[in-house]
Amino acid sequence: MNQQQFENFTASSLYCEKCKAAMPVRERLLLVLPDREIFDYLCTECGSSVGRREITAGEKMLTQAMARRRPPRKSVRQLTQ
Ligand SMILES: [Zn+2]
Repeated sequence: MNQQQFENFTASSLYCEKCKAAMPVRERLLLVLPDREIFDYLCTECGSSVGRREITAGEKMLTQAMARRRPPRKSVRQLTQ
């Protein structure tokens, strides 16, 4: 397994209009929906929002599997009963 490849994918720099440069960003969980999560990207220098990303349930499972190798939950429906 080459784990560095995955880290390069998640850590990124985005262009910040305030700093007028590509800045390293911090990922912040903005909103959790049943089928997706929305992340906000904040400039680490000035703290302004420079981007947004939606992660669908499928992508999230993939991300978690790669990050922690946790087995997927089998019965989510039990929680609603
Ligand atoms: Zn900035």
